[in-house]
Amino acid sequence: MMNFLRSLFSTDFMAHGYCLRLPGVIRLHEISDLIIGLSYFLIPIALIYLVRIRRDLAWPWMFGLFGLFILSCGSTHLLAVYVLWHPIYRFEGVVKALTAALSFPTALLLIRLVPRVRLLPSPELLRQQNALLATEVAERKVAEAEVRRLNEELERRVADRTRELQQANEDLRQFTWAASHDLQEPLRMVTIFSEMTEQTEWERLTEDGKFYLRTAADGARKMQGLLTDLLSYTQLASAAPEGNPKCSAQQAFDEALTNLGLAAAECSAEIYRATPLPEVTITHSQLVQVFQNLLSNALKYRRPDAIPLVGIRAERHPGQWLFSVSDNGIGIDPPHHKRIFEAFKRLSNNDIPGSGLGLALCQRLIERNGGRIWVDSEGAGRGSTFFFTLTATD
Ligand code: ADP
Repeated sequence: MMNFLRSLFSTDFMAHGYCLRLPGVIRLHEISDLIIGLSYFLIPIALIYLVRIRRDLAWPWMFGLFGLFILSCGSTHLLAVYVLWHPIYRFEGVVKALTAALSFPTALLLIRLVPRVRLLPSPELLRQQNALLATEVAERKVAEAEVRRLNEELERRVADRTRELQQANEDLRQFTWAASHDLQEPLRMVTIFSEMTEQTEWERLTEDGKFYLRTAADGARKMQGLLTDLLSYTQLASAAPEGNPKCSAQQAFDEALTNLGLAAAECSAEIYRATPLPEVTITHSQLVQVFQNLLSNALKYRRPDAIPLVGIRAERHPGQWLFSVSDNGIGIDPPHHKRIFEAFKRLSNNDIPGSGLGLALCQRLIERNGGRIWVDSEGAGRGSTFFFTLTATD
């Protein structure tokens, strides 16, 4: 083996170029081997270029292996030209052995790859599938255009319907306003004449007559309150929202408290402020109304066995303030928490005066100013806490 390696490049034979005395045949071998060898050298270059520009090719290692195999084949042919005149047969044999070592596994791997290559879609199949996809895309575009058209049609109908509903709403509001406004006058008559009868005819009335008169006067007073609330409610619906009014919640709270002074004193209520009250975005009169409604409810719906205790606090949240008005009153069962904000929805018995519009009005006022209002109460006898949010001014 060592001897073989040492004499790898020795030329101890007669080169067959000298033996063949047919110069034509020698030339034929020389030129053909040269061209084959050079061509074999070019093929791997083409393969490397192909693998580089088509990075998505399947099995790129196969191209590499094939390139090496072709390169070694080319070497055998170029060596054949050299060996014609320089008989380094040992070295030529080694190169052939290397080529054989490369060609056999390459051939095996190629054969194993054939079934998988067969599964690759042919260019014709790809063309057909592309055409199919193009048809599907075109159909989808048509469907999308139809959906768009239907959507536009739907939006137009919704806009028409909304306009109609807004108009109907406005008609209803005007009607409600006119009715409540016009009813006030005859009602005032009833109240005034009831009071006059009470003042001038009281002694002459029988017990039954006195009872009828008081009932009529009470009814007229209740109706008066209802009409006042109804008027504020309908007026609020039509009033254009003001820009970004600033209001001191502290001042609004104080004003509401002053307005309720008598009612609070009558039941010895304790109304306290648990935190300082901030400046918020709402009109002063609107916030006074919200506080007044919530505080007056806290007094109206008090427990008969406890002095009303009402606390108000404000808590800062990102971009807004969260107000809460808590009382120790009769409480509200959870199923009613949402319903009490509906207009005319009352849970209490009719002995407690009210129109059922106070909370609906509060909700409207708060929502018009970008806030939310809700109630939390664990149920009957457990007190209630009304929460509402308003935008901060800073
Ligand atoms: P009104 O007080 O005129 O009836 P509101 O809209 O202010 O109307 O309130 C609706 C209903 O919600 C009331 O009738 C009452 O049953 C209930 N309610 C409101 N506030 C309270 C409260 N603080 N505690 C218990 N119940 C309340």
